[in-house]
Amino acid sequence: MGDKKNIDEIKTELTIRIEEGFGLNSIHIARIDGWFESIHARAGAAYHSQHISLKDILTKTQKDFSFERLYGTLVCVYYPDYMDGINASGWHLHFVSQDRKLGGHVFEVSMGSGECMLQKMDRIEIQLPREAAFDTYSLKEASKDEIAKVEQGSK
Ligand SMILES: [Zn+2]
Repeated sequence: MGDKKNIDEIKTELTIRIEEGFGLNSIHIARIDGWFESIHARAGAAYHSQHISLKDILTKTQKDFSFERLYGTLVCVYYPDYMDGINASGWHLHFVSQDRKLGGHVFEVSMGSGECMLQKMDRIEIQLPREAAFDTYSLKEASKDEIAKVEQGSK
């Protein structure tokens, strides 16, 4: 993958590659090692309370980072549309720097050039929490709007 790609261009190119190679109904993982002009990312703090939503955690504790001119890796996960709800459908990108010290959920990126590896997945394993608190927590409150805000970083 070459020449100054932003996040939408990376997602589009990855989608074309899996559509041409495999179709869009499986889960796919892409690893892109490369040089990045800039990256805007977010990381949430560790938390232990069970009765707090992801949106609340991120609103209160997330840190936004801007990284510039560094080597690193984009880890991109694709879930097909029919799995929306188990995970956000489409591509989801995380970044980690080459020295593994910087990283997070990617909102925007300007990639200089990178080498892409793709892997099709035909199996996922989901471990639900075993604590009683999980069974009594109202998960219906996790609305699609909230999830979209958390994913895309709009406030
Ligand atoms: Zn993320």
